[in-house]
Amino acid sequence: MIDLNKFEVWFITGSQQLYGAAALKQVAANSQEIARALGRSSEIPVKVIFKSVVKTPEDATSICQEANMARNCIGLLTWCHTFSPSKMWINGLKQLHKPLCHLHTQHNRDIPWSSIDMDFMNLNQAAHGDREHGFIMSRLRLNRKVVVGFWQDISVQKRIGAWCRAAAAWHDWQGAKFCRFGDNMREVAVTEGDKVMAQMKFGYSVNGYGVGDLVKRVNSASGKEVDSLIQEYEASYSLAPKLRKNGESRGSFREAARIEAGLRSFLTEGGFKGFTDTFEDLHGLAQLPGIAAQRLMADGFGFGAEGDWKTCALVRAMKVMASGLKGGTSFMEDYTYHLNPKRNVVLGAHMLEICPSIAKGKPSCEIHPLGIGGKADPVRLVFNTPPGPAINASIVHLGNRFRLLLNEIDVITPEKPLPKLPVARALWMPKPNLEAAAAAWIYAGGAHHTGFSQAVTTEMIEDFSAMAGVELVVIDSDTKLRHFKQELEWNDIAYGIRSGFVS
Ligand code: MN
Repeated sequence: MIDLNKFEVWFITGSQQLYGAAALKQVAANSQEIARALGRSSEIPVKVIFKSVVKTPEDATSICQEANMARNCIGLLTWCHTFSPSKMWINGLKQLHKPLCHLHTQHNRDIPWSSIDMDFMNLNQAAHGDREHGFIMSRLRLNRKVVVGFWQDISVQKRIGAWCRAAAAWHDWQGAKFCRFGDNMREVAVTEGDKVMAQMKFGYSVNGYGVGDLVKRVNSASGKEVDSLIQEYEASYSLAPKLRKNGESRGSFREAARIEAGLRSFLTEGGFKGFTDTFEDLHGLAQLPGIAAQRLMADGFGFGAEGDWKTCALVRAMKVMASGLKGGTSFMEDYTYHLNPKRNVVLGAHMLEICPSIAKGKPSCEIHPLGIGGKADPVRLVFNTPPGPAINASIVHLGNRFRLLLNEIDVITPEKPLPKLPVARALWMPKPNLEAAAAAWIYAGGAHHTGFSQAVTTEMIEDFSAMAGVELVVIDSDTKLRHFKQELEWNDIAYGIRSGFVS
């Protein structure tokens, strides 16, 4: 549903007039060749378009202005084939509102030992030209990514690809709308935050809608719409006997489909990229949306339970980053632990709303009572998550600013079946271990809700946090708790200086 191929990254090469027309022609031809190769790389999910060779301050300014205005341009990929005096970039870079990746490469891989002369040296100066280019961005305090290496290397293309995915997610957030049905779960702190600051910082808006507006949509869903969803459910999932034709809960099954139809049309017509709900405000809905939230997430919508709009927006961003990659992305919650000395394990789940994009095999469609919320039994998809590396990410509001947190984890296969657990689940071992990871997470104030992904990488989130200009703290196999606590303290001072302190 999320198509990254419509997006463009503009390839801009820095140079100057000094070298003469022939050399500049060669610079343009080589740049085109590199841009074409990057655009064709399976590691890079967007179009790479060679735009121009910047030779003057006017060139730099006009290309940055053009990029700002271009609808599908998600960022600039810059490189200095030759030397490009960087004072001429100041005015343009000051105005640039799109992410920038500085590719520090060279057209030729090897030094041509037997033929290298001064002409060759003058044409292939990235080694020092790109340092001048980098200086001005550091001087301007411009957040960007620097990728070093030969442009044909897969590792280089992978790093550019990760940045493109982050840039696409960042682009997707600008002007995005997220819908909240009801408010937060009462008295919960971490799901609160400053929505005005979020809009200023991240570009997306969050607005509330009465659940009654949704109920109206749900009730007006046609029998035909419900029938076609029921057919889709029957074809996609293993149905519990109660939900099958003439089963005792067939009516609830149809009601769940009706909720999906109403929710889907509300979100689609409103142009929303995600939504939150809360079990404390379901007036007029027969069930807490279970299968509906799960399937909407699978189609790329962000979701946050209990009014958690920050996680909803993050899940959406991660869905964009993950588009086309193997492995799913879901709303998640650290639910309960296995504190066995042999292996400390986290069981992640939620009351209902885990995305089937992370399902191992065909999900089972079931109906079970839900004590919380006081509504009829909700229909949900139940499944396990396949083993492999994954991440959990969280975004919290610290009063004066936002903090992104990430924990690298390894999803494992459950030791034993969980026949009575009526919800989708993932089991994982956090890095470096549960003891350090959970302590670090708690010291950092990370939420119990996360965006979980088996496709999104730490590198993508790192690039994304740089684009947003927010702190990122990573908990991985290198994390030492004492150093991590110091990092939090130092970051608090650094970000406090930039954005003001709060008590
Ligand atoms: Mn929750």
